[in-house]
Amino acid sequence: MRDKYDVIIVGGGVAGLYAALNFDSNVNVLVAAKRELSLCNSSLAQGGVAAVLDTETDSFECHYKDTMVAGGYENRPEAVKVLVEEGPSDVRKMIELGARFDKSGDQLNMTLEGGHSRRRIVHYKDATGQELMRVLIEAVRQKENIEIVENAFVCFLDETQGGFYATILKDGVFSVVAAPYVILATGGIGRVYKYTTNSKIATGDGVALAYELGAKIKNLHYVQFHPTAFAEPGRERFLISEAVRGEGAVLLNSDKERFMHRYDEREELAPRDVVSKAIILESRRTGNERFYLDITFRNPEYIKKRFPTIYAHCLNEGVDITKQPIPVFPCQHYLMGGIDVDLNARTRVDRLYAVGECSHTGVHGKNRLASNSLLEALVFGRRAAQDIMIRARSDGNLAGSPPVRDYDGAPLPVGTRTTVREIMQRAYFVLPDLDAAERGLVQVSEIENRLKRYKFAITVDYCEAKNLATVAGIILREVVHH
Ligand SMILES: Cc1cc2nc3c(=O)[nH]c(=O)nc-3n(C[C@H](O)[C@H](O)[C@H](O)COP(=O)(O)OP(=O)(O)OC[C@H]3O[C@@H](n4cnc5c(N)ncnc54)[C@H](O)[C@@H]3O)c2cc1C
Repeated sequence: MRDKYDVIIVGGGVAGLYAALNFDSNVNVLVAAKRELSLCNSSLAQGGVAAVLDTETDSFECHYKDTMVAGGYENRPEAVKVLVEEGPSDVRKMIELGARFDKSGDQLNMTLEGGHSRRRIVHYKDATGQELMRVLIEAVRQKENIEIVENAFVCFLDETQGGFYATILKDGVFSVVAAPYVILATGGIGRVYKYTTNSKIATGDGVALAYELGAKIKNLHYVQFHPTAFAEPGRERFLISEAVRGEGAVLLNSDKERFMHRYDEREELAPRDVVSKAIILESRRTGNERFYLDITFRNPEYIKKRFPTIYAHCLNEGVDITKQPIPVFPCQHYLMGGIDVDLNARTRVDRLYAVGECSHTGVHGKNRLASNSLLEALVFGRRAAQDIMIRARSDGNLAGSPPVRDYDGAPLPVGTRTTVREIMQRAYFVLPDLDAAERGLVQVSEIENRLKRYKFAITVDYCEAKNLATVAGIILREVVHH
């Protein structure tokens, strides 16, 4: 690592890497990722990327409308317009870079997911995210202007005249690196919950860093709970993609009866929030939390070819999805709110940008339409890079001295993160529990104050605990005061 770059990107998922790739070769970019590049929410994406690639069978108006309907019309209309109109060219760019989306002959295979009224989701089997990451990692590694540092945890961001200092912890050593521009691309907040589909890295670091710098955080309680995570023990729950319902799978209650018709006329293809709520209400009606997703009526060979990852995972857990219904239950999945940004991904802090899941562009409204988030990561990642390149032409020098910090202190009390997660699971899971949220807010605020006020050793665990408490506090404050 050098002392100074033109741009620091915190995060190397689809949003961070695609932003990096969109800088000209004379812009020096540092991408810091706190773990190996492959460990992120992007790598876990199964279903695909939504985009209007065939204007004979689909239209921007239709994708726009589906997105607004799913978002409960709380979306930012101008951001949705940008997403649907510019998205197709970014998806084509991914194809040019080598993304191998599934095809029949020359035609891309488009699939359907809940809330979409057209088949518009391109995918690579059921491992689309891994494929996008493969292509992006290969592309950025060829760029001499992009330096990637893995296992590099950004602990602090300090504003200085004309830019920022980022304090990075790598292999037990702290480095302070400067840049006139910073893009936060740190992904989701799933680990603030006990059960989530998100990867280990999703501890809301970018949201907490931006919050501390005075950025506006918007709608952080717009958390998406996916209706069909594999019901298994353990924190990280395996997702049974919406595409399985798109291909006709039906939901069954504990008596193995279909029930969605009681809650919504779109039945299994209703948007995620509707299906998740229906499962919780049905569980209250029957007094039983066992639910199943059944695709056994489809041809076994088709199932294995179309959903190889899901088939293999479930088989490993003892469920042959070609013969048995899959046990499922809702869990935390995605963050619609986040660091509020404009159409160029600018936050209200000068020179600070946010892209991908940590940002709030407003495209998702109250509920994300399936497969719109990888698209958002691409479109607004590119827009951030383009905007910085326009501004950077008239840029002055970075001034001020690097921050000086003492990194020593007491160890993080055992169980801090678990306590935060349990509070969140009780207070705000699918249907909020206001009493638990009020009690939880008091507890979380105490934890947050303790972690910020007393002198703890600066470690990854400490920073993540502080960030989780900050994020939980913002969510619960919104829930309580909404
Ligand atoms: C199981 C699952 C399935 C999904 N399926 C789909 C789908 O089919 N279609 C779709 O559109 N979306 C899907 N999503 C959502 C989508 O994958 C994510 O919203 C999107 O990939 C987020 O990309 P990102 O680049 O913003 O974040 P991520 O890909 O999570 O990347 C975050 C990066 O930030 C780094 N980072 C975080 N904190 C720090 C720090 N303090 N210092 C340094 N680095 C840091 C991480 O190491 C990582 O590199 C799915 C999500 C999950 C979990």
